[in-house]
Amino acid sequence: MGKSSKDKRDAYYRLAKEQGWRARSAFKLLQLDEEFDLFTGVSRVVDLCAAPGSWSQVLSRVLIKHETFGRTAWQNQESLLRQQMLGVTGQRDSQVDAGAEMTSKTETPTIVAADRSKGDVKIVAIDLQPISPLPGIVTLRADITHPATVPLLLKALDPDYDAATASKSASNPVDLVLSDGAPDVTGLHDLDMYVQSQLLFAALNLALCVLKPGGKFVAKIFRGRNVDLLFAQLKLFFTRVVVAKPRSSRASSVEAFIVCLDFRPPAAFQASLERPLGVGDTAGLAPAKAAVDVDGLAAGSPIVSEVAEVVLEDLREARDSRSTPTTSRWIAPFVACGDLSAFDSDASYKLPDDYVSLDPIQPPTAPPYKRALEMRKAAGGAYGKTTV
Ligand code: SAM
Repeated sequence: MGKSSKDKRDAYYRLAKEQGWRARSAFKLLQLDEEFDLFTGVSRVVDLCAAPGSWSQVLSRVLIKHETFGRTAWQNQESLLRQQMLGVTGQRDSQVDAGAEMTSKTETPTIVAADRSKGDVKIVAIDLQPISPLPGIVTLRADITHPATVPLLLKALDPDYDAATASKSASNPVDLVLSDGAPDVTGLHDLDMYVQSQLLFAALNLALCVLKPGGKFVAKIFRGRNVDLLFAQLKLFFTRVVVAKPRSSRASSVEAFIVCLDFRPPAAFQASLERPLGVGDTAGLAPAKAAVDVDGLAAGSPIVSEVAEVVLEDLREARDSRSTPTTSRWIAPFVACGDLSAFDSDASYKLPDDYVSLDPIQPPTAPPYKRALEMRKAAGGAYGKTTV
C-alpha cells in the first residue's frame, strides 16, 4: 500500500495508513468479526495468503494485545471521523468535487478489552511472499496449494508435532482458518476466476485437515457462475454458511467472503492430503447422466469422491423433489456487514488542500515487480541505454 492519489479516493485506504494497518483489508476482517464474532474463544488461528499482513495485525492486536475494534470502538471511531467530514457522507465519483472534506488529523482510539481468546494463543501466517515480522505471529513462506504446507503449519503450531506419528485429533488443533487469497490478476476473467477458485479449494482442503470440530473457516470468494455448488459443498462440513460482503469491500467488486461456522464434517469423511479437494477425482458419473444440470455440475467439478457422493445425493434429492432440475442448488444467505454509517468504499472524499499523504506502513519486502525494476535499471531505464 503506497503513497498515491488513492488516499483521496478511498477512505479505507487512507484510514488504514492512519491507524497503522499494512493494508486496507484489515477493515474487512474487523467488519466480519463485528458481524460473526469470529475471534471469541479461539486460540489457534491460521491466516492463509497473509502478506503483507494486515489480517495478522488484526489477529495480533485482538487476540494477543487484547485491543478491541469491535462494535463500540469501531463505531465510535467511524462517527468521530464522519463528524470531521463536515457532516456529509461520501460522494460518488461523479460528485466528488462538490463533496465533503475529510481531515487527516484523526484519533485512533483503541480500547483494551477482556481477553476474547481461549488461553495460550498461537497464530501462523502463510504466504508465497515474505511477511515482515509481527508480534506473536509465526510467519511461513509457503504455497498453500502444496501438500507439504499442512505438516509445516502443524509443526509451526506445535514444535513437538511429528507427521509420522500424529493422531487424527492431535493434528486438528485449529479454531479458525482465514484465507484472503488472491492470485495476481491477469485481466482474463475466466482465468482469474479459475485460479481464484483453485486457491479457495486449497484453503478449504487445508482447513479440513487442521480444523477442530466447531471450528470456523472464512475465505475470500469471487462471486461467479457455479458458486452455489461450492456453497452446497461447504454446507456439508459446516452448520452455518453465509456469504458476507463487508462495507469496506467495494460494492463494484465481485469479491465477497464465505463465512463457515461450526465445523461438523460428515462421519465418514477423512480429509486427505494425497487426494485434496479440488484435484484428482471427479464424481465418476456416467456421461449419459451428466446431461442434467446437477450431474453436469458435479461431473465437471473436481471434488474429492467421498464428498462428491454425499453432495450429489443431496443435490439429486433436492432436484428430484422439484420439477426443474436447475433449481436444486442450495443458496447461501447473504449478509452485508459493517455499520451502514461507515465509510462507503466506492465513494470518493475530497481532502483538504494541506492534507499530507502518509508513507506506507510496511512497504513490500520482495514485490513481484522488484526483479523487473532491477532489470530495467540495469538496462539503463525505461527506454534502455541510448547511444548516439
Ligand atoms: N490478507 C492480506 C492482508 O491483510 O495483508 C492480504 C492478502 S493479498 C489480497 C493476497 C495474497 O495471496 C498475496 O499476498 C499473495 O502472495 C497470496 N497468495 C496467492 N497465491 C498464494 C499461494 N498459492 N500460496 C500462498 N499465498 C498465496
